[in-house]
Parts: sequence; C-alpha cells; structure tokens
Amino acid sequence: MKHIENTISFIKDLYGADAFIPLHAPNFSGNEKEYLLNTIDSTFVSSVGKYVDEFEEKMQSITAAAKAIAVVNGTAALQVALRLAGVQSGDEVITQALTFVATANAIAYNNATPIFLDVDLDTMGLSPKAVENFLEEYGELREDGCYNKKTGKKIAACVPMHTFGFPVHMDELIAVCEKWKIPIVEDAAESLGSEYKGKPTGSLGKLGVFSFNGNKIVTCGGGGAIVTNDEDLGTRAKYLTTTAKKPHPYEYVHDMLGYNYRMPNLNAALACAQLEQLDGFISKKREIALAYKSFFNGSGIKFRTETPDTNVNYWLMCVELENKKERNLFLEETNANSVMTRPIWQLMFRLPMYEHCQKDTQENAIYLEERIVNIPSSVR
Ligand SMILES: *Cc1c(COP(=O)(O)O)cnc(C)c1O
Repeated sequence: MKHIENTISFIKDLYGADAFIPLHAPNFSGNEKEYLLNTIDSTFVSSVGKYVDEFEEKMQSITAAAKAIAVVNGTAALQVALRLAGVQSGDEVITQALTFVATANAIAYNNATPIFLDVDLDTMGLSPKAVENFLEEYGELREDGCYNKKTGKKIAACVPMHTFGFPVHMDELIAVCEKWKIPIVEDAAESLGSEYKGKPTGSLGKLGVFSFNGNKIVTCGGGGAIVTNDEDLGTRAKYLTTTAKKPHPYEYVHDMLGYNYRMPNLNAALACAQLEQLDGFISKKREIALAYKSFFNGSGIKFRTETPDTNVNYWLMCVELENKKERNLFLEETNANSVMTRPIWQLMFRLPMYEHCQKDTQENAIYLEERIVNIPSSVR
C-alpha cells in the first residue's frame, strides 16, 4: 500500500532514524541528574523531602488547582480521588469504555461498578449527550444524590477521561452532572498541559488525577497526583495517602484505614526536572503534530487534530483509518518496518472483569476502536 509506505518513510525522516522508532520515549535533557544526585546526597529519598513539596507546588500552578497531592501512581490517585468524591462499596460510577484499564480498575478497587457510556467522535472522550440520555432513562434523583432505577444503586461519581490529551466537552458534561447531583472526577492522566476553553484539564471537576508513568508526557518513573479546588478534600487526600497518620512528635496514631500511597522524594526530584520542561515538550509536540497534519492531508489517512476551544498537549498522536481492515494493514506494515504503532484500547466491557457492566449502544466507541491508531509521538 503506497500511502502506508509513504507514512513509514515520513516517520523515519521525521525522527531521523532507521532503527526502531518507539511510540513515546521519555526525554531527560534538563536537570534530572542534578536533582536526583541532590536527593541521594540529602538522604531524604523517601516520601518526605523538598522535591515532593516543590512538585506539589508546581502541579498547583500548572493545573490552577488549590491543592495538589503527590502519590505513587495515577491508578492510586484515581482510587483515592473516587473515595474522596464519596464513592462507597456497592455504588456505581459512570465512565467511558474507551479508556485504559486503570480507569475501570480504580472504580473496582472501591468495590464500585462502572457504567460504560459512549464517547463523542470528535473528542474520543465521555459524551455529555450519552450521559444525559442514560440519566433521562435510568436516573432517579433522591435527597442524597442520583440512583440507577435499573439496579437501585447510587451513581456516586462520573469519570470522564481526556483521551490522548484531547479534552472532553466539559461544560456540557458539568451541566448534566450538576443537574443529576453527580460529582465529576477527571481522569486527566493523559492530558497534563491540555486546556479546555483556556482552563487546564484536571481542575474542572471536583477532583482530578494525573499520571507520571514512563510513557506519559512527563515522567518520574512512576507517580501520580490528585488535584482539587476544595482545600478540605486536598487535606483529606494527603491524610489518606499517608496511612491516615495524625501528626504527633513520636507516637503512631492512625484513626482510619489509610494507604501508603505517597510519592517518594526520589521520584519527585525527577518529576520536578521534567515539569520544568513541560511547556517546551508541548511546543515541540505541536510542531510534530503540524508536520503530521500537512503530511497526512489528502492521503486517505486522517490525522486527529484538536477540537475548537481546546489546546491539546499531543501526548500520543493518532490517525483514523478508513475501516478495520485498513487499520490492521497499517498496524502490520508499520510495526514490521520498525515504526511502532498501536491500536486504541479494547473497550472495557470486552474484558472478563467488566463483561457484566451496564452500558449503552457504544456506537462511537466501537467506531473508534476499529479505526484509531497511535503513531510515534516522542519529543525530538
Ligand atoms: C496512564 C493512565 C492511568 C494510570 O496511571 P499509572 O500511573 O500508570 O497508574 C490512568 N488512566 C489513564 C487513562 C491512563 O492513561
């Protein structure tokens, strides 16, 4: 296929490499080594230390949130954020089936059940219309929140996920969720630095979470963050993730079931050095996105660009193939030629753990599942 061959040589030229081109390689060209050595010299390698504090301050300023709490990874961040939003054992949580498995797992860790609703074709994230339609049919407002008429269970939260950094239609989603008294927890693991109507993603709902895993736009090896504009929730997030330990000069006092989920200072050192480069990473990625956009223009392969009113971080860039057959051909030929590409995730209700979950038609999610492929997106 000519257009696939052309794509392979374009990507090889773009990254100036004939060797294997990964989807997303981390870039450590800033103060990473200096900060790591400082941390070792200070002996404060664990979860108390100046880089943890600096990291939290930096995250507050990047996300414009009142509070940011450093934690061990994005999944743990989401698990705790859901608990703080009020999710309890036996509740249900609305989210999208088109997501990385951690979104659904974090719901299940709270002994809650996901309800999978469709995504929008343009954002690839949770569709406010799908949520509205579902609630019109199954929602029942009671004194203490929204209940599912079909199961009798409380719908305790809604988790939109900003797929590959493309923000969900948040204004519309917030309006629906406010009407039905459902708190929003943003899974912003992929959208650090992305903006919706000039506002950073992650701080648009009640709580938001980020990931700093090795393949994310900014990494600290492994790490996560919870952000919120509610000071009280922020304080509780820090408390819960620090084994619910009450301050005391020497005694161990714990008054509830907490978690050992704090980010070590060693990882925070790496995160601080990386966050200093976030703006630079995003502008370089936007240049790559422009190059891809003009290359794919008229090629029969659609390069996904940002929707109106958003600024996308272009964490993982993606193309849309015409159909599943074309997609498979594209995946086979690129990977056989050392250009790493990967299909979008399998929908969550196909996984054995989530087969039984309630869902809607999933028309758009299935369309995207069959066509979307990630292409190399590293900062050069
Ligand atoms: C990466 C990711 C997470 C989880 O992050 P970890 O730090 O790997 O635990 C959660 N949700 C989404 C959508 C992600 O992409």
